[in-house]
Amino acid sequence: MILHYLKIEKPSIIYDSIQEQILELGYNYRAKVAPINFEIKATPIKKGCSLSCSFSYSAQLPCARCLKDVTVEGDTFFIVELKQKSSVAEITEDADVEDKEIDEIFLDEETFDTKELVTEQLFLLLPEKVLCKEDCKGLCPKCGSDRNTTVCKCGDSFDPRWEPLSKFKKTVKE
Ligand SMILES: [Zn+2]
Ligand SMILES: [Zn+2]
Repeated sequence: MILHYLKIEKPSIIYDSIQEQILELGYNYRAKVAPINFEIKATPIKKGCSLSCSFSYSAQLPCARCLKDVTVEGDTFFIVELKQKSSVAEITEDADVEDKEIDEIFLDEETFDTKELVTEQLFLLLPEKVLCKEDCKGLCPKCGSDRNTTVCKCGDSFDPRWEPLSKFKKTVKE
């Protein structure tokens, strides 16, 4: 929802949700994220508002080797402070006094989309790479079959043009 973060007068709890969404995490690497119900506690602070946000998530990500869907789940809790940009100078002065580790977001606008906050957090939470199992054998580079379930014949016959190279590789390994 769109939050008028400068107009919050007393601590309040916001419940909201995001529909199923696809997040592009990298080249050919997408997460299918199940609908998320999130809860945000908004508390007014000087020239802004503090948000304590928590939610559970579940996403389907392709295995880095065989491309099979892998489910990644978790919970998160984090706090951010929204502040109006014009008050940055003043805030810097405050920072010397109270040395805190809370993320601050400085905004030009007087509104803030809470869904964006959750989506951005997902980008941080979702892994850069997943494997369906630690010893996933991946796909055959030649025929594309899943080596976890299929034994293809590609491994036996190899292109003779590469023979000198494979011999070289063996030498290097030894
Ligand atoms: Zn796999
Ligand atoms: Zn094969």
